[in-house]
Amino acid sequence: MSSINSSARLTVITGPSGVGKGSLVKQLMLRNDQVWLSVSSTTRAPRNGEIHGIHYNFMTVEQFSHLVEVGGFLEWAEFAGNCYGTPREAVVQQLSKGLPVLLEIELEGARQVRNSFPESFQIFIAPPSFDELERRITDRGTDSPEAIKRRLLRAQEELSAQNEFDAVVVNDDLESAVTEIEKLIGLI
Ligand code: 5GP
Repeated sequence: MSSINSSARLTVITGPSGVGKGSLVKQLMLRNDQVWLSVSSTTRAPRNGEIHGIHYNFMTVEQFSHLVEVGGFLEWAEFAGNCYGTPREAVVQQLSKGLPVLLEIELEGARQVRNSFPESFQIFIAPPSFDELERRITDRGTDSPEAIKRRLLRAQEELSAQNEFDAVVVNDDLESAVTEIEKLIGLI
């Protein structure tokens, strides 16, 4: 780890499932060429339209466990019955070139990154209200009723941890939330 240029900024974006992290990050990347997003690995099945290598590296539990064993992840966590992890190598390479990195991950992963990279900047994305979050997860139509239940339970836990973060951005209006993130990470 000593080869990492500590001035290269590692930004973590966390927030409950359904809050709109994906849309925020997508907008952020469309508006800023220099934003590099790490592609996570997951044991979750691809949703409609998700492409291997672009949205996630989709893998079996065995493949994921092997990567955990060999230290292939910078952080990893279980979320609503599936495993998710940030591949270490690509992030370390990017940072060692002095280039900024963006991670879009859940709470446990953010905590692990905080321990290994105390200089990382951590942003929590909050919904305007819990009811609105529930509506967004349900309307998304991508998860089973059981998965929605698990995600909402986990969301309560994540929301109560928002004080741990360097900044909280409420995703009410997408454009304003993106602009706020751009200001926080020094893009504008
Ligand atoms: P989804 O199944 O909705 O794509 O993602 C579920 C949750 O896992 C989201 O909160 C997302 O931010 C998080 N997540 C995605 N990739 C990673 C990762 O590499 N590590 C961790 N810890 N969480 C991740």
